[in-house]
Amino acid sequence: MTILEMDYLGTDEIKQVILNFQKEVMPGKPIQESLVDEFAVALKGLTEYEILNLLALAYSRRGDLYREDLSLIFDQKQQMIKKAGILEMIPLNETMEDIGGLENLKEWFKRKAKVYKNMDKASAYGVDMPKGVLIAGVPGCGKSLNAKAAAKLFEVPLLRLDMGRLMGKYVGESEGNLRKAIALAEAISPCVLWIDELEKAFAGIGESGGGAEVTTRLFGNFLTWMQEKTSPVFVVATANNITKLPPELLRKGRFDEIFYVGLPNAEEREKIFQIHISKRRKQDLNDINIRTLVDKTSGFSGADIEGVVKDAVEAAFADDKNGVKTEDLLEAVKNTNSLSEIMADSLKKMEEEYKSRKFKNASK
Ligand code: ADP
Repeated sequence: MTILEMDYLGTDEIKQVILNFQKEVMPGKPIQESLVDEFAVALKGLTEYEILNLLALAYSRRGDLYREDLSLIFDQKQQMIKKAGILEMIPLNETMEDIGGLENLKEWFKRKAKVYKNMDKASAYGVDMPKGVLIAGVPGCGKSLNAKAAAKLFEVPLLRLDMGRLMGKYVGESEGNLRKAIALAEAISPCVLWIDELEKAFAGIGESGGGAEVTTRLFGNFLTWMQEKTSPVFVVATANNITKLPPELLRKGRFDEIFYVGLPNAEEREKIFQIHISKRRKQDLNDINIRTLVDKTSGFSGADIEGVVKDAVEAAFADDKNGVKTEDLLEAVKNTNSLSEIMADSLKKMEEEYKSRKFKNASK
């Protein structure tokens, strides 16, 4: 038996499919060249059959192909990728402005974005293709938020790799799934590939037993890909607990940089309060004494602060108040068990671990 691996279509091949479709289905209605280019980019990562189906669907709506159909294609593509099971296309709603603090990390992303968006010029200049970043640290402090904002900044799609679903129950299935996921990401590239909770995927490496062997093999494949990758797939891996990660992963050459995200300091908490109050009750922002809130929330994570704002806004609404006041927020602070209360010991250990490994601090 011969196994044939189907390659995804390249951009030029997709353009040809579009032009053939135009000739056969809508003769006499040429499509602008720039629009063909945009369609081709939007259709990357789909098979010829799927591309033809999508074009037919778009055409059937209004008897022509318009730029507005790109959003239809985007939505449908999202569905198709989801059905394939291993990757998920995440809508880009967050920007770097939605992140309070973490200035070092944000600056780093902005530099990479400049390289990434001008890759031809940068590589002619001698700059290497960016590989990706590992963001590790305290839960609820903006790691996922950064993955999403990075894709928005790079102006490329965001694909999330679900490591849980990657693990198949048959021999060789997991490796096959990883290969498929990587091939799909490369076909859709340029893109950001977000690997969430990296430590969960690669826990148990080096131990004995059937499951551990699969993980070790999978990990080897992943490392090789990271090391040799030349495609514009920018990997953003996030992890809550780096102590469980195998040391090979942390060596130079895999990721461009490893950042540590800790609990927000006073200045960062102030910005996070401002962001989340503005999102919900912008009109109340000037009357709220944020300094007082900052003083009372040492040890709170970004997610804790968001929770406080949410609770206070809901309570004020339920009590028929005109607006949200500092007292309402303070009340919510009182009723919140902050992250550092819940997991004080492990936070301390984590912080020491990061310091000893000399990871870059995401905050200034
Ligand atoms: P994790 O670090 O566990 O990936 P997330 O990025 O998912 O945490 O954060 C959870 C939520 O908490 C976010 O959706 C956001 O609303 C809020 N949040 C966390 N950190 C910040 C931050 N630095 N600035 C603004 N909001 C934040």
